[in-house]
Amino acid sequence: MASELISIGLSVLDYLFLCDQPVRGTLGPSTDHLVQGGGLAATAAVAMARLGGGVEMWTRVGDDFAGRFILDQFVQEGVDISQVRVCRGGRSPACAVRVDLRRAERYFTYFGGRGLDPSAEGLDLSRIDAAKAILVDCTWLEAQVPAARRARERGVPVCADVGGVSDRVAELLRCVDYPIYNEDCARRYGGTGSTEGDLRKLAPLGGKAPMVTLGAQGCIWLEDGQVHRLPAFQVEAVDTTGCGDVFHGAFTFGLARGWDVAANARFASATAALKCRALGGRTGIPACGEVVEFLRRHP
Ligand code: ADP
Repeated sequence: MASELISIGLSVLDYLFLCDQPVRGTLGPSTDHLVQGGGLAATAAVAMARLGGGVEMWTRVGDDFAGRFILDQFVQEGVDISQVRVCRGGRSPACAVRVDLRRAERYFTYFGGRGLDPSAEGLDLSRIDAAKAILVDCTWLEAQVPAARRARERGVPVCADVGGVSDRVAELLRCVDYPIYNEDCARRYGGTGSTEGDLRKLAPLGGKAPMVTLGAQGCIWLEDGQVHRLPAFQVEAVDTTGCGDVFHGAFTFGLARGWDVAANARFASATAALKCRALGGRTGIPACGEVVEFLRRHP
């Protein structure tokens, strides 16, 4: 049976190191570490599952250690992996993250994978017809463009995590209802010197309510020609890895429940803020009840 939520895109194996001391020469000491599944659409899928959504992940992994680890974690989280493509001889994506607590900075070393067949062949696009919302992260356009087109034809809302705008991404955005840009992407594309100006330049690319997330500054979106802003919730952040992914997952979860953009943005902000409590993109992702309780205490 197809799931109510479908997340399509990148899965990664994250190696995280928490650091609160300066790097001495070539040695950067660490006070804690963690190996955990990561990736934009993948962590979003885990967020949807923790919140209580029925979710399936469409992604590609290799038949290597990292791939098996990534899939095990999906299964533990209750994410359906029946549509995952395991590529024989392929190498799964992996990322080393150094979380520097003193500077509140993160440093990444990223391997994008190898031998992971990107073709859309074999994907069962008809599963989209029964979904209530889908999420695409612009990392697998061969699959995401036809999936978003199908969703548009069937009236299934599409949310997109957008980190850069190429011609091919622009083609995808024509079928996206809720594009969510990160600040860097908005600045590079807009170049107006103001987030609001950048947002207005992004709007013609598509979507009912284009949005830009601004890290600890919150988010801003355009709806019916009007700009709306929502500050982030103030929390003691241990690690902001995956904040955006969790925000997108929670936003898509809300779309499936028919919530409006403002309610969705508030719910997604709270979910992302709670995520910051612990090391790793996924450790601190809350259940729906925790988010509701948090929102009650932060009216
Ligand atoms: P991305 O990782 O895609 O760049 P952002 O860093 O913009 O995403 O974060 C997405 C959302 O997560 C923000 O809009 C905000 O709601 C929340 N968030 C991010 N950083 C923090 C923080 N330090 N404290 C509270 N909320 C945060």
